[in-house]
Formats: sequence, structure tokens, C-alpha cells
Amino acid sequence: MGEMTRRKREIVGLRNERDFPHLVELALQPGSFRSVFLEIDTFHRDRMTKAELRAQGIQALAQVTTPIIKLPIKIRRQCGRCGDFNSVLVQPGQAVPAFKCSACGYRAG
Ligand SMILES: [Zn+2]
Repeated sequence: MGEMTRRKREIVGLRNERDFPHLVELALQPGSFRSVFLEIDTFHRDRMTKAELRAQGIQALAQVTTPIIKLPIKIRRQCGRCGDFNSVLVQPGQAVPAFKCSACGYRAG
């Protein structure tokens, strides 16, 4: 019974692939119906191939998920002598500077 259900699902999947070769899942941003319709209209007018749409989707996803690594890092350290907190901004690619307390002048690291 389970096997039958599984096979039926596969057949339906194949039929969709054959009958609707341009059927792809589009992740539409929640917005006005007008913008959604415009997106669908653009999709049909351009008549992109499924492979092209996939490539475009992967590219778009890559742009979104690419981490921004070139950001300065703020490091907060507490002075071992007076207990004052010192913040230092480290630029990407730079080494963390040795600690020097701005309050008492204590040096460490
Ligand atoms: Zn200090």
C-alpha cells in the first residue's frame, strides 16, 4: 500500500515535468498582488528556460547568503589593574593590538 502511494506520487511528478516544462517554484516576496502579477508576467514574457531560472535563483541566493567579512571588530577588554573597560576597533586583516588601559596606563598582552 505504501509502495503504491509512493509510485503514484512519482508518476504524477513525471507528468508535471513533461506537461509543464516551464513550471518552476518561484519564491515570491509577500507584497501586493500587483507586484506578484508583474513578476509572473515578466517570467512568462521572458520565456527563460528552467535551467536559466534555476541558475538565476542560485545566483540570487548566493548574493543573499554570502557573508560580509570585511567589517571591523570591536573588542572590549577589562583592565587587570583598575578594572576599567577598554574598547578597541580592529580592522579586517589587522592583528589585535596589545592591551593598554586608557584609564591607568596598564599594559598587558
Ligand atoms: Zn586600568
